[in-house]
Amino acid sequence: MRKKIIAANWKMNMTSAEAASFMEDLDLELKNFDGVEVVIVPPFTSLPKLSEIANDMPGFAIGAQNMWHEASGAYTGEVSAGMLREFFTRYVVLGHSERRTIFGESDELINKKVKAAHAASLRPILCVGETLAERDANKHHDVLARQLKGGLAGLDADQMLDTVIAYEPVWAIGTGRTASPEQAQEAHAFIRKTLTELFDAPTAAKVRIQYGGSVKPDNAQELLHQPDIDGALVGGASLDSRSFAKIVKAGSRA
Ligand code: PEP
Repeated sequence: MRKKIIAANWKMNMTSAEAASFMEDLDLELKNFDGVEVVIVPPFTSLPKLSEIANDMPGFAIGAQNMWHEASGAYTGEVSAGMLREFFTRYVVLGHSERRTIFGESDELINKKVKAAHAASLRPILCVGETLAERDANKHHDVLARQLKGGLAGLDADQMLDTVIAYEPVWAIGTGRTASPEQAQEAHAFIRKTLTELFDAPTAAKVRIQYGGSVKPDNAQELLHQPDIDGALVGGASLDSRSFAKIVKAGSRA
């Protein structure tokens, strides 16, 4: 039985004060939920405040949106895994499509980060997903296989179990256009099959695979009911505590 994992990717939004008030509201909205792990992924600047708050909220964990793979040194503007651990950060999102396209991150670089995260006991949430052109050309399996193989290279099965995969079709991120539950399920089943080939069947059966791409309160339930969808990585709708709470509750019922 895979525990659902619902994560809020705030991207470059929310000051530390706004984050604190969001958590107060979310706490009020979410009195009864179980069977779901909730991960808040704020900008780096809110990590100290949020880890303090989340510490008193059972079922909540904190994640970071990115990191650099070296432990320290002349990397202006970057943050290491060890620095994230200082604030009890449990997860780190790696390979988000915005990092791949805007910042030019390759599978090779993402793989270095995935390995560095594990070395520091941080759990990576590895994002994979095809563009619209790749889907239209029926290339999405090739893209997913390449990103999984590249991003997960060198991991052993135990590390894989501490890794979450997020399937985020690029054409569905921030566009309001969601993959249908059938399209998402098909891609998730393909990801699980690929994990079986890269690792083994028992490992693949235990790995959690989130869906991300315009998840909203009104489509969450159906997506989260699919057999291979084990949670959601939520962007836009996670900025509103009520919307996000509804998505968490949908995960708790699924
Ligand atoms: C994301 O950026 O990870 C995301 C899924 O965004 P949105 O929910 O806004 O599509």
